[in-house]
Amino acid sequence: MSAPLSLPQSSPVSPTGDRMCFRVQSSRIPEWNYIVDLTGEEGRSTCTCIDWAVRRGPAIKAGGVIGTREVMCRHVIAARNYFLNGLLASMAKSETER
Ligand SMILES: [Zn+2]
Repeated sequence: MSAPLSLPQSSPVSPTGDRMCFRVQSSRIPEWNYIVDLTGEEGRSTCTCIDWAVRRGPAIKAGGVIGTREVMCRHVIAARNYFLNGLLASMAKSETER
């Protein structure tokens, strides 16, 4: 028996309401948000930040591999962690309900 899991209150990631799209707060400028689409670029994900535009996007176009640091900016990594945390918590919950 375990207490229900909850995500950290300070999580800089929140759902946008669009399927698999998340809003990620800038670490340097809290008023800024970037939008990450986890299923964009065949699962390698897209982000609206400069790092993605100048480094990650071109790395993807050059054949970058899904899940590698080369193709993921910090916002994509944060959104993937947020999504996976929610998925694992709900899987664990449904398995205890059987
Ligand atoms: Zn980004």
